[in-house]
Amino acid sequence: MARVYNFSAGPSMLPEAVLRTAQAELLEYGTSGQSVMEMSHRSKYFDDIIVKTEAGIRKLLNVPDNYKIGFFQGGATQQFAMVPLNLMTTGKADYLVTGNFSNLAAKEAAKFGQVNIVASSKDRNFTYIPDVTKVEYTPDASYIHICHNNTIFGTTYQQVPQVEGIPLVADMSSDIMSMPVDVNQYGLIYFGVQKNVAPAGMAVAIVREDLLGKAPENVPTMMNYTTILEKDSMYNTPPCWCIYMTGLVVDYLQNTMGGLEKMHEINKAKAKVLYDYLDSQEFFHNPVEKEYRSLMNVTFTSPDPDMDKKFCAEAAAAGFVNLKGHRLVGGMRASIYNAMPPEGVAKLVQFMDDFRKANS
Ligand SMILES: *Cc1c(COP(=O)(O)O)cnc(C)c1O
Repeated sequence: MARVYNFSAGPSMLPEAVLRTAQAELLEYGTSGQSVMEMSHRSKYFDDIIVKTEAGIRKLLNVPDNYKIGFFQGGATQQFAMVPLNLMTTGKADYLVTGNFSNLAAKEAAKFGQVNIVASSKDRNFTYIPDVTKVEYTPDASYIHICHNNTIFGTTYQQVPQVEGIPLVADMSSDIMSMPVDVNQYGLIYFGVQKNVAPAGMAVAIVREDLLGKAPENVPTMMNYTTILEKDSMYNTPPCWCIYMTGLVVDYLQNTMGGLEKMHEINKAKAKVLYDYLDSQEFFHNPVEKEYRSLMNVTFTSPDPDMDKKFCAEAAAAGFVNLKGHRLVGGMRASIYNAMPPEGVAKLVQFMDDFRKANS
């Protein structure tokens, strides 16, 4: 069997050790005589899985006791609606638009109230993050929303907005668990799991308790954070398999990788190899302002779109797959989440340099 280096932005690579554990437990989980895919979500076996998964996330991300953690279907995109439906108590919210997903989140929120785009990096095609200390926030905004890592444009925040009395909401779909996070800076963090955590099919939300219980009566049951969180994500049948896989990945990050500070060091070193290479030659180009470069999604172009195509085709044939950039930006994008091994990046750089020499 030859596993490829998969640079997909999501769904994306999972740690091989985790896949092997899932494989070993696939037919019979523990002494249950059943697969996790088959068991009742009300069984003691699954109860053990969901409790362990929640506790594992709490420990790994250092989530304080006054935050609840919940598992939701509908992906991160459903969170774009759930956030305003539950949190827009003043009828207004501030959004910083730094890429495609924050733009979509702002558009969705505008269905439910007044959305103020208080900052945007659209003027330079989302190649930077606005200075959050210079933004004029709306004094009675219910919350401020950011997308912490811009999956498509390859940028990331170095500093996040902090306004006394206004909760910060962050979409961390593409960088959660890649580094430590100070949860206290946020009122709510959400992420789709299919980028850096688990297979597709679930989002996780971490919600400060004082923000709960404020949704209007007519908010659909499944769109109300309080419904799901009060029932420990068991109001209805939860995405059992995704919860199980999330638990395995969290356990792996904590106990095999040694926690998020270690993971962050590895991710920084991995990204440095690629950015250093990009900066060392003129054939490939990364358009992002250096200060805001993402450690997870590295975008680059070759001299022209036909060459990009040739590069992606030859790379795929050599075992480096899903390097084509998002249709909004073109070029290439290497998503190098936690599960991409350092040698995958080193080998990609070698391949890029061979390609450069052959085509310059
Ligand atoms: C992928 C992604 C989304 C969309 O996630 P879905 O689970 O497909 O709804 C939203 N935000 C960010 C930052 C993403 O990377």
